[in-house]
Amino acid sequence: MKITRVEPILYDAGLKRVWLFVKVHTDAGVVGIGEGTTTEPFMAEAVMRRIGETLIGEDPARIQDLWQRTYTRWFNVRGGPLVLAALSGIEHALWDIKGKVANLPVYEFLGGKLRDRVPVYANHMFFGGLNDPRAYAERAAEAVERGYSAVKIDPFGDARGDIDRASLAKACAMVAAVRDAIGPDRDVAIDTHAKFGVGGAVKVAHAVEQFDPYFVEEPVAPENLDALRRVRELVNVRIATGERIYTKFGFQALLASQACEIVQVDVAHCGGVLEARFIAAMAESHYVQVAPHSWYGPISLAASLHVDATIPNLLIQETPVPHVMPPKQSELLSTPLQADRGVLSVPTGPGLGVAFDEAVLARNTIRP
Ligand SMILES: [Mg+2]
Repeated sequence: MKITRVEPILYDAGLKRVWLFVKVHTDAGVVGIGEGTTTEPFMAEAVMRRIGETLIGEDPARIQDLWQRTYTRWFNVRGGPLVLAALSGIEHALWDIKGKVANLPVYEFLGGKLRDRVPVYANHMFFGGLNDPRAYAERAAEAVERGYSAVKIDPFGDARGDIDRASLAKACAMVAAVRDAIGPDRDVAIDTHAKFGVGGAVKVAHAVEQFDPYFVEEPVAPENLDALRRVRELVNVRIATGERIYTKFGFQALLASQACEIVQVDVAHCGGVLEARFIAAMAESHYVQVAPHSWYGPISLAASLHVDATIPNLLIQETPVPHVMPPKQSELLSTPLQADRGVLSVPTGPGLGVAFDEAVLARNTIRP
């Protein structure tokens, strides 16, 4: 079997969000699908087209070979986020092809399932102009009502670098409202989106410690692991990071620094399904838990679920909550992924086990 076409697809998801999918076509008529969405989908699409040109005529079954050759092919941009996002999406599609050919779900190629259902948390509470504790509490109560055991919020607004007393008090009021709404038996994670320097991050972590957060995410930016470890040494909450760290090499440095307890590998950013599985194994050897990042379309979420099914050190999977996601997300799959009482079932069909509704995909594809 040979690859005949790599077709990037820019999808207008609504709410000013654009997702990057890919179809890998073969001469046998088998088509694999994947997702390489980043915050810069138009840039990643250009890279994906360029990578795709190099894969024409190749055997789609040689996933590792194609990955290694693609990873090492371009000298100066090796390992960069755009190359990795594009490569991740293509890699998902190669797994989808392999599974469809063998009539097996992708998790069977990763050692088989450890679980059929994956616990998920609801990340849906820092959009829509929420600006007061009552609004946060309402959203949290709604998540509890839907059966979620954990939620995530970013209550820090426009604070950058440091945070003043008034903003910190307001943030704490929002966390307190959420903690009240979810009660003592559920979790609230706090994402700072790397807004702070070391001093601000430490101040924030100390302030929210009283609410027993699930974890504090990206307290500082990912470039300087010494700074992250410095934060780690000064705070009493668990640190999670990794959505902007790439490949086994990036996670090697993170894990060796012992600067976090939870890694947030993103299967659409890190290099793909197999790379995420490798990273999870590296984390396992450091007694570090994995809480995969997912804040884009449903193909990368499906790919992540196949990894989640097979790793012993899974903590919880992130999910964007459907009812606050773009309207063109819920109708995109022929069978939507829907969390039920805070868990998602691992797709069991061949390959990734999900398929586009082709009419919805075509209607919302962005044509250059
Ligand atoms: Mg984050």
